[in-house]
Amino acid sequence: MKFYDYLIVGAGLFGATFAYMAKRQGKSCLVIDKRPHLGGNIYCENIEGINVHTYGAHIFHTSNKEVWDFVNSIVEFNRYTNSPVANYKGKLYNLPFNMNTFYQMWGTRTPEEARRKIEEQKREAVEAMKAAGVEEPRNLEEQAISLIGKDIYEKLIKGYTEKQWGRKCTELPAFIIKRLPVRLTFDNNYFNDKYQGIPIGGYNKLIDGLLEDVESRCNTDFFTDREHFESIADKIVFTGKIDEYYHYRFGKLEYRTVRFETEVLDCENYQGNAVINYTEQEVPYTRIIEHKHFEFGQQSKTVISREYSSEWKEGSEPFYPVNDDKNSALYAQYRELANQEPNVIFGGRLAEYKYYDMHQIIAAVFNKYFS
Ligand SMILES: Cc1cc2nc3c(=O)[nH]c(=O)nc-3n(C[C@H](O)[C@H](O)[C@H](O)COP(=O)(O)OP(=O)(O)OC[C@H]3O[C@@H](n4cnc5c(N)ncnc54)[C@H](O)[C@@H]3O)c2cc1C
Repeated sequence: MKFYDYLIVGAGLFGATFAYMAKRQGKSCLVIDKRPHLGGNIYCENIEGINVHTYGAHIFHTSNKEVWDFVNSIVEFNRYTNSPVANYKGKLYNLPFNMNTFYQMWGTRTPEEARRKIEEQKREAVEAMKAAGVEEPRNLEEQAISLIGKDIYEKLIKGYTEKQWGRKCTELPAFIIKRLPVRLTFDNNYFNDKYQGIPIGGYNKLIDGLLEDVESRCNTDFFTDREHFESIADKIVFTGKIDEYYHYRFGKLEYRTVRFETEVLDCENYQGNAVINYTEQEVPYTRIIEHKHFEFGQQSKTVISREYSSEWKEGSEPFYPVNDDKNSALYAQYRELANQEPNVIFGGRLAEYKYYDMHQIIAAVFNKYFS
């Protein structure tokens, strides 16, 4: 039986980056994943020649030059810029909130006009709250209105947020929205980062490059043969769910998930943009993604995914950790056990019960284990 330096559980971006770095140091690795494919949540399925982001739209963005140079050394990235559009009752607004949005909302043409309109909206909101005896925002609705005013809140924030969280904004805590950045420029670029793009040929190329010459096995669940897997390597890099690793002994960590309805359409260009948010409550989905636009595709057909946000239950994908007090306390108990394991590294979004963007995953692997 072969013996490895590392058994890596999970072929997502954390596991794949770790394997790549370990291999460069001459270490032997076996990567296993319970899914039928490598790549974890950045995996893309090819449908009609289009890379479909199976687990949700992924846009790489970073200001970290080391990370950007690293991913570009594996695969070249295109110059895709994320500029989402919001559809509220059939009217379109550019995002993030900028001079285009304010023109579409109020017809303001100069930064001074827009600034005055926003101030007026905020003042009206705060005065209305004070008249009702409210000094400090008590919930997300009051917080958002006091930061941006009623028009933008009602058209672009309220319905979308309620669909995302499955709760009314009046029942959500104010701290969820700390600030609402506005730009007084005509700039629809969603991210403030220095670098962004999509791997040319799709994310599978990034994963294939990272795992080149690394032994990997799909359809292989660590827990179905745990004793065997624990005996074949010096160290384990575990990127699955930390509560599952400990047999849920303190209870189950909770997540929010997203369900996708994906459809092939017999048209070249359905919505003219990769991402359109549906911000009214009456439309049940939060967004429609048209995948070909991430790579400027010219195919004769197109593929779209409608995204529905929902509560996680057994069998659905655990996407977003719920970082409330209850779950944070539960995670702390598991973390304490994990800290006592000399031969297991717990890394990535499921093992650290933490939302990570892709560039942060790569930086975490570099900084914690290969610096
Ligand atoms: C809907 C959505 C959209 C996102 N969009 C962006 C974006 O636009 N930009 C961005 O930078 N980031 C985005 N992210 C974040 C990005 O997906 C993560 O940073 C990244 O995928 C995390 O990699 P990971 O390796 O930690 O986890 P994963 O990709 O989840 O990999 C973990 C792997 O472990 C495997 N595994 C689990 N348990 C076992 C087991 N018992 N045995 C074997 N294998 C197991 C799983 O099958 C999985 O493949 C998004 C995330 C979500 C949920």
